[in-house]
Amino acid sequence: MSVDTQSWVEKDKKYIWHAMSRYDPKASPLVVTEAEGAWITDIDGNQYLDGMSGLWCVNVGYGRKELAQAAYEQLNAMPYYPLTQSHVPAIQLGEKLNEWLGGEYIVFFSNSGSEANETAFKIARQYHQQRGEGSRYKFISRYRAYHGNSMGALSATGQAERKYRYEPLTPGFIHVPPPDTYRRPQGMDMEAYGRESARAVDQTIMWEMRETVAGVIMEPVITGGGVIVPPDNYLREVQDICNKHGALFIIDEVICGFGRTGKPFGFMNYGVQPDIVTMAKGITSAYLPLSATAVRRDLYEAAFAGTDEYNRFRHVNTFGGNPAACALAVKNLEIMQNEKLVDRSRDLGDKLREEWTELEAHPRVGDIRHKGLLFGIELVEDKETKAPAKSDKVNKVIDACKKRGLIVGKNADTVAGFNNVVTLAPPLCLTDEDVTFIADTVKEAVNAI
Ligand code: PMP
Repeated sequence: MSVDTQSWVEKDKKYIWHAMSRYDPKASPLVVTEAEGAWITDIDGNQYLDGMSGLWCVNVGYGRKELAQAAYEQLNAMPYYPLTQSHVPAIQLGEKLNEWLGGEYIVFFSNSGSEANETAFKIARQYHQQRGEGSRYKFISRYRAYHGNSMGALSATGQAERKYRYEPLTPGFIHVPPPDTYRRPQGMDMEAYGRESARAVDQTIMWEMRETVAGVIMEPVITGGGVIVPPDNYLREVQDICNKHGALFIIDEVICGFGRTGKPFGFMNYGVQPDIVTMAKGITSAYLPLSATAVRRDLYEAAFAGTDEYNRFRHVNTFGGNPAACALAVKNLEIMQNEKLVDRSRDLGDKLREEWTELEAHPRVGDIRHKGLLFGIELVEDKETKAPAKSDKVNKVIDACKKRGLIVGKNADTVAGFNNVVTLAPPLCLTDEDVTFIADTVKEAVNAI
């Protein structure tokens, strides 16, 4: 370590409380100083292909000068005005998002995925109240899914270890198991399993009393919880169930949105049209903070009109929809369209999956799942029992990747012992050489255990 590096690392230890960390004087973070395309460079000049796009978010890749330029120009022209009124970049982005969503939506801007979900919960409760169904306050979400760090979004989260130490949380969030196709009952076909998994939502709404349920929130594919890809019919079944019970169908696209799954939005893989869509991360490729909650326009008009003083949506955030962030987001979506990155995500995802066909035979590889450039490689102790691989083996693969210059991730389910999925969500701008590098590195790393 150079003297310079040493001094930054020491200062880091003194001043920076890292996300998800404990006090550990020995831990040394990667201090990243430069980045271009899919690659990051640390303070010592080591290069890594960022196979996680930061936190699943740098969709167009690093070093896009046009994005910096768009923000710069907007900051010079008009840096801030709150969305209690309006500004042109927000209007342009609202229009663009409607193109991407394939329906008519009214868009509320915030700053993070957590806030986008909090906003959705408040809108859903108020929607029901103003339509005379004020008893609907509960939300159904799924075990293993993550929906954010704030009290409501954390309550929707179905990963117990993230909630432990911070409870009690917000009442009214009920969890159901997600489909886990790898462990579905023997002999059951995918369609039957999709129906059966959706039935858990149906039954839970009935047992909770449908009159108390405001909505169901789910990611199209559970991401951080282990890249759990549902059967093709599952989301359609859930949407039908929501319609039957009068619950709003809320889709969290914070990770799955903006091309990650090979479609503009993840829900588009499954032929559904949500009532509410929440999004963040890829909306700006994380160059600036921004998130959005998109609500079906007809629902908005049906519930949020009227002259009663309390009919308005009494919700504001100072920074949400910052003009520079919105201008940057518009440019970001243009880049994705011009470079056809959504299709590229689909094609490169399929290509990578093919490269790993032989990996399936490895005694520790239980399942390789993907949608577009969203991958989960589930490691097991034993292919017969499907017992999840112990942490040391999973960490070994992750370390072996890093040693070879590839950053990959791991899912979060520690309590149930299911933190055995190596995750990958690289930037969608990967070159063909990058794809080969990822394919080969993962093969070598897995073969090292
Ligand atoms: N929903 C999902 C599916 C997420 O993955 C995340 C963040 N990883 C969030 C919500 C929360 O987003 P943020 O960290 O921007 O608050």
